[in-house]
Amino acid sequence: MFKKSFGSVILPLALLAMSASAQDAKTVLAAAEKAMGGTDLKSIQVSGTGFSAALGQAVNPTSPWPKFDVTSYTRSINYTEGSSKEEMTRVQGNNPPRGGGGTPLAGEQKQNAEVNGNFAWNMAGTNPVPQFGPTLDERRLQIWMTPHGFIQAAKRGNGCAINFDCEAKVTKKTEGGKPVTVISVGFGKFPMEATLDDQNLITKVEAKFPNPVLGDMPIVTTYSDYKDFNGVKFPTKILQAQGPYPTFELKVTDVKVNAAAPLPVPDAVKTAEAPRMDVSDQLLADGVWYLTGGTHHSLVVEFKDYIAIIEAPLSEERSLAVLAEARRLVINKPVKYVINTHQHFDHSGGLRTYVAEGATIITSPINKPYYDQTFKMKATIAPDKLAKTPKAPAYILVPDKYVLTDGTQKIELYAMKDDNHNDGMLLAYLPNAKVLVEADEWNPPAAEAAPPATPPAASVNLYNNIQRLKLDVKKIAPIHGRLVTMGDFLKFLGKKG
Ligand SMILES: [Zn+2]
Repeated sequence: MFKKSFGSVILPLALLAMSASAQDAKTVLAAAEKAMGGTDLKSIQVSGTGFSAALGQAVNPTSPWPKFDVTSYTRSINYTEGSSKEEMTRVQGNNPPRGGGGTPLAGEQKQNAEVNGNFAWNMAGTNPVPQFGPTLDERRLQIWMTPHGFIQAAKRGNGCAINFDCEAKVTKKTEGGKPVTVISVGFGKFPMEATLDDQNLITKVEAKFPNPVLGDMPIVTTYSDYKDFNGVKFPTKILQAQGPYPTFELKVTDVKVNAAAPLPVPDAVKTAEAPRMDVSDQLLADGVWYLTGGTHHSLVVEFKDYIAIIEAPLSEERSLAVLAEARRLVINKPVKYVINTHQHFDHSGGLRTYVAEGATIITSPINKPYYDQTFKMKATIAPDKLAKTPKAPAYILVPDKYVLTDGTQKIELYAMKDDNHNDGMLLAYLPNAKVLVEADEWNPPAAEAAPPATPPAASVNLYNNIQRLKLDVKKIAPIHGRLVTMGDFLKFLGKKG
């Protein structure tokens, strides 16, 4: 009797375990949809206030991303067509004015971000500005990271592809002493996971998104304080972190159900082509080239036996384009050094490629522990050279001053003082050409632009550092903007040239 019932219980359990996942997923998704009132949900419009923060723009590698207050926010998502329109107004508020990403904001800044299917754009007044690559990918992903979006994407198996299981998988576990259900899916190449509480409400959605510095970067959104809006339950507290720190918070004041109209893609966006990774060069002095052609510039400096590159911005794609140009300009010399002005992601995103190439990084000592850590991070979604062939980084650290020279060619590096943009900021000075290279302290505006009534603190501080170091600067080759003279800089500051 005992034996028989033992057998009859065990066998069905084993069968159940084999097919449990797919069955469970359908059941769990249906339960969540019912609990959150999403069965007939086609669109949603959410309003509120909170904060936003600039990913990768911390003043110090150990600080959180710099924050701005969001004083007004509206986002309309149409789940049927996969579109989203986000509008926000940001101010500096009481947030410490230290770091990058536009810090400190003067007055109000309006931001607009839109996406529909394979097209993304920002509205600048009435002009759509097309967006491509990671910006497009992330905007699409963020639609399916919302509570109702996740359920719809998981139900459809939306875009399940490359390297990820198409079928939603369900895991039961305990979190903080309470039972939770975790649903995992792949949206395109991005894995996503949602946590449901015992009421079948989504409390967390975590995605992985490729980042040039952080590798497979977690984007984690937590949802809490669900309230009922016309039969649809929606969280009134939303907090998102990208990498280790928060990037966005919203205290929801209003939710409108099925009110978001379709979002037509502007014709100019439909026909726009993604910008190519162009590199242009300009000879500044013997063996010194200014490499421009995009948003972030680099310099190639030729020494007797090697090449040094100033700045590895953005991504591996940019690094490979700059390296190809350097090798075209200087034949048969190894790229031995890469100089990194500061650790902000848009200025250090190309460093991993140089590590893979075997170049030594010249940077502030505060960056070494950070880079040691990030160079080892997993990058499986968009594997780069360093992920494919890991290498140990080599550094020259510049606490104060360092001179790279072969007796003729010379780069002097100086640590900036009292800088609010970044604690580990380096200036590069080429004494033979009397050229200063600086990042983010002054991005020269168009030649005809009138100087500001009050020059930005960062630019004034750059001037103070040039004075302190007694540098005889004739020209400035900024990482952003255009080649200018010291006279242009003095004019901008309202000083006599
Ligand atoms: Zn910066």
